[in-house]
Amino acid sequence: MATFKTHLTVAVTFSAGLAGGFLITDLATPKTAFFYGLLGSFGGILPDIDSPRSVPAQLLFNVLGILFATLVIMNDSFFGIIHYSWLVGGLIYVFTYYGLSKLMAKFTVHRGNFHSVLAAIWFGLATTAGVYHLLAARELVAWTAGAYVMLGYLIHLGLDEVYSIDFRNRKLKHSLGSALKIVSLRHQKSSIFLMLATIGMFLLTPEVSSVIKFLWH
Ligand SMILES: [Zn+2]
Repeated sequence: MATFKTHLTVAVTFSAGLAGGFLITDLATPKTAFFYGLLGSFGGILPDIDSPRSVPAQLLFNVLGILFATLVIMNDSFFGIIHYSWLVGGLIYVFTYYGLSKLMAKFTVHRGNFHSVLAAIWFGLATTAGVYHLLAARELVAWTAGAYVMLGYLIHLGLDEVYSIDFRNRKLKHSLGSALKIVSLRHQKSSIFLMLATIGMFLLTPEVSSVIKFLWH
């Protein structure tokens, strides 16, 4: 298994390179290219959130906690009283950081469904839907953002797979085939759940027509 540092280095290098290409070819403005690069790097460490004490898991739940809390605090009209929203924001942070990560650990198996191509697709679609609805981005930008996360995610899976080959002894480690799989056949219930979640997430994404039009021209 590749270490966090390896994953991060490869993800950042690849995403920055790709985003640079987008920038040079005028496919993205500097701001958007930076955003894409960030998303690709994030996708590259995302699969390991299924091991709760991993750096990406702690990072993710920290960021999510801050994000949720900020949304509540900023939206003070939501609760009317500003002090109250700070309290609720704080509680939401604590719940996300401690509660959600515990819950996640309970329901996921490391290298279960999170290390699958289907999960990569789900996270890609979730990014597209999120960027489109929450950031009010154009369809093409939303789909490109999703593609970056998915690519970063897939690179992570591929890297884990490469690391399961013991080059010196020319032996295959036990973990071979556990990283890059379409779905986890060992965890059927969660695989079915993930398939349904992927279909559901696809319904939340914007139209693909703009992407098709762009690719055809
Ligand atoms: Zn991994």
